[in-house]
Amino acid sequence: MSEIHEILKKYYGYDSFRPGQEEIINHILGGKDVAAIMPTGAGKSVCYQVPALAMRGITLVISPLISLMQDQVRTLLSVGVRAAYLNSSLTARQFQLALDNAKRGVYKIIYVAPERLETENFLEFACNADISILAVDEAHCVSQWGQDFRPSYLKIGEFVKKLPKRPVVAAFTATATNKVRVDIINKLGLNKPITYISSFDRANLYFGIHKPENKLNYIIEYLNNHHDESGIIYCLTRKDTEAVAKYIEDAGHSVMPYHAGLSDERRKKAQEDFIYDRIKIIVATNAFGMGIDKPNVRYVIHYSMPGRMEDYYQQAGRAGRDGEPSECILLYAPRDVRLNQFMITRTPDDDPLTPAQREAYIKAEEECLRQMTFYSTSQGTCLRKRILNYFGENHGKKCKNCSCCLDDIEERSFGISSSVSTMIMDEALFNRLKDKVRIMALFGGVPVFTIASDAMLRELSAVKPRTTAQLRHISGFGEEKIKRYGKEFINIINEYENEAEF
Ligand code: ADP
Repeated sequence: MSEIHEILKKYYGYDSFRPGQEEIINHILGGKDVAAIMPTGAGKSVCYQVPALAMRGITLVISPLISLMQDQVRTLLSVGVRAAYLNSSLTARQFQLALDNAKRGVYKIIYVAPERLETENFLEFACNADISILAVDEAHCVSQWGQDFRPSYLKIGEFVKKLPKRPVVAAFTATATNKVRVDIINKLGLNKPITYISSFDRANLYFGIHKPENKLNYIIEYLNNHHDESGIIYCLTRKDTEAVAKYIEDAGHSVMPYHAGLSDERRKKAQEDFIYDRIKIIVATNAFGMGIDKPNVRYVIHYSMPGRMEDYYQQAGRAGRDGEPSECILLYAPRDVRLNQFMITRTPDDDPLTPAQREAYIKAEEECLRQMTFYSTSQGTCLRKRILNYFGENHGKKCKNCSCCLDDIEERSFGISSSVSTMIMDEALFNRLKDKVRIMALFGGVPVFTIASDAMLRELSAVKPRTTAQLRHISGFGEEKIKRYGKEFINIINEYENEAEF
């Protein structure tokens, strides 16, 4: 086994790399800059974390959001990697403490907010540390073309120049447009980078378009059939968000609204309750998104059609990051087009654009809306094919996992289960493991998915390992996970098997 395979197995418990990961890792290890464009859920983190562990020195990861950094560091610590973040959520004292630790070489991977790069004490640390890799997460934030533009990302290039020894710079994003890609390479000052663009196909996602007479009834029925699963329902307006959340709550489901009009505190609570599985459903505007790194979102429903394919695919793509079958359902009604049209032509009071710019903006947005409407209303072509074609990719055959390829439900569930696995699992054991993991998470104060994914529990309840050594064969059980939870899992399985024998 090669060293990087060993690292993947030891820390993450995975046997093989996903498409692109190995190639990117080898380029980084070979000292080459990389610009990698991969869809959400493809596994970008592994691409810089594995070389970070394989190389001497420290890897700095620039990340735009505090919540993203916290999630990543929590995950790394849970698999036994020494990691920390440096951002404004720390008090001055905590920050200094973390920086002192960093100087002493305590951390292998350090997440840092782009604003920090300019501060004197951080720069002093960076210039005296052995930094082997600089990874830029959400690299599209450097581009003025995107809506996530962060001016402080523009300072990254300068920061790299100030370092006495240039680290490998690796940029990652899920935003694919040419303009953004060129910006990433130029503005980050990548040095003859290897550009890796992966397919944007997400095979585990089912895509559906439905035109129910009553969208709310449709949603309630859907939720009744998926009551144990986490999902996001996207609305176009704050008003819709509140109304839909209220309706769902009245129907007896645990749900919270999320939009920019709510206080920071309420938004934070909604986000945390969702991640920790304390509530199952979030009803949100497009304000809910980038900071969400929850792998087990099983469905994303669009209550209304969004205005752009880019937004649609990005939001829908928050389902199924863990690779498990998940559903993306768009509920279309002609009102959606009018609502989007209204939002496009509405000029803000303090319009920052000149009239000519405003006119160009409206024209561009209207074209996007036209494409989105075309996607939502045309018939006869596989939805996956339509989506991928929109993003410039060819997709030949019918996917058999969209509402166009499959018009009846039975066929669909067959299609999914047969493509995913042929394991025969013990349903009762699976349910028991699931309950126990919920309790373990509660006591540990961690989200359920950090202990075990459904896929891991399914494999456990099929293979039924009886010793901790046998756990190594289950995908997702790295060394640290076995050390922390191995005994508990084995006890549950042994207990269950012994009961079954009598
Ligand atoms: P991205 O940042 O591209 O959206 P993540 O890095 O969050 O994706 O990875 C998504 C999920 O896929 C995570 O749960 C991660 O552990 C898992 N994953 C990554 N690489 C592999 C692999 N080689 N085998 C199995 N699962 C993987």
